[in-house]
Amino acid sequence: MHQSDVVIVGAGMQGATMALAAARAGLRPLVVERGKVGSGATGNSYGIIHGGLRYLQSLSVGRWRRSRQAQAWFLDNYPDHVRPLACAMPLYRHTLRSPMAFRAASAIESCLYRGTGLSRRLPRLQLLGAEEIARAYPLPRRDLAGAALWHDLVADDMETLLRKILADAGASGAALMEDTEAGELIVADNRVVGLNVTHADGSMEEIATPRVAICAGSWSSRWPQEPQAATAATLAFNLVLEIPFPGDAALAVSETPGKGRSYFLRPLEGGTFAGTYYRPAPGAREPNVTPADIAAFLEVLDRALPGYGIAEAGVRAVMPGLLPDTDGTGRTLSAADTISTPGPAGLSQVLGSKLTTAPLLSMDAARRLWPQEARRAA
Ligand SMILES: Cc1cc2nc3c(=O)[nH]c(=O)nc-3n(C[C@H](O)[C@H](O)[C@H](O)COP(=O)(O)OP(=O)(O)OC[C@H]3O[C@@H](n4cnc5c(N)ncnc54)[C@H](O)[C@@H]3O)c2cc1C
Repeated sequence: MHQSDVVIVGAGMQGATMALAAARAGLRPLVVERGKVGSGATGNSYGIIHGGLRYLQSLSVGRWRRSRQAQAWFLDNYPDHVRPLACAMPLYRHTLRSPMAFRAASAIESCLYRGTGLSRRLPRLQLLGAEEIARAYPLPRRDLAGAALWHDLVADDMETLLRKILADAGASGAALMEDTEAGELIVADNRVVGLNVTHADGSMEEIATPRVAICAGSWSSRWPQEPQAATAATLAFNLVLEIPFPGDAALAVSETPGKGRSYFLRPLEGGTFAGTYYRPAPGAREPNVTPADIAAFLEVLDRALPGYGIAEAGVRAVMPGLLPDTDGTGRTLSAADTISTPGPAGLSQVLGSKLTTAPLLSMDAARRLWPQEARRAA
């Protein structure tokens, strides 16, 4: 029988960084993953580690700061696995995405940098002229006033990054079991004492452990939890299109120029990587993308970038994932990171809203859930 100080369920960004945080807190974690490392939302994501510029539009300074801290964490710890990605967003007169709004965002950002003690790790926000951006991309020209250019980070090979994080956790005692599905908890006197798992060959095993941390993303609701906690209900997907994309920056476009949800397009292996499209999927257990979903996304992109030939572009790959939502209806996307202790003692659930901030959430969770172990390790 395997024994472990803590079993972590799921090897996405949350589970991998949780394993690292647990190992650094002096525990010997075992990560169980029902598929392969990164096979959930993390491995199918758009791969951007956001700098939080968008949060400044709603003056969510805390979220901006957390995104910048997360970027710094990736740059400090995994510099060979992330790279700066230039992102351009066309700006239109008389909209919220106007040069004036972005000049204001840039000024606010500069002040925040000075006030928060964070050091600027990526180039400053820049404004491009209308002619320059129109020469680069076939954008709707009416009221086009220029473009904002900023830098985020991107992880081009998410699986390799996750495996590196898990290997670092392994150097401090963590172990990984892939193709192993976590099942029922074993509970005695309202305390976790173990977890049943099923291996790919159908064999079952009991793992003796006093702690189970659920990092199973949208599948987390399988285990006991608070009634209002998130459940799987939003489908999100990216497309790889058989059409070359100009330049090497990512372009943020929206269906109505200057308004609404932004979709990103960037070059990928001679094609275009487009993301991310969302739709409600109440009660879904697997991320099933239908031909109608793909057609709807292509239509949106075609309206955003007319004249680029997206409507006729072949689809090379669909990258789908399920995301938790806040009320189980599938109409909302979870914006909050949660650490909960939903059932018997020793059971915890760590549910993040973005892979960007997953490492920070994991470090917070380890401090909150295992303070004595963390103190001993320090
Ligand atoms: C299309 C798309 C694009 C996105 N783009 C971005 C982006 O650019 N930037 C960003 O910051 N965020 C992005 N996100 C959000 C981000 O991917 C997620 O918030 C994050 O990856 C969630 O990580 P996680 O580890 O909690 O979940 P997951 O990555 O879903 O991992 C959960 C893991 O648990 C495993 N699991 C489930 N049940 C069991 C079980 N019973 N036993 C064992 N293992 C189990 C699953 O197989 C899975 O590997 C995107 C999401 C999607 C879907």
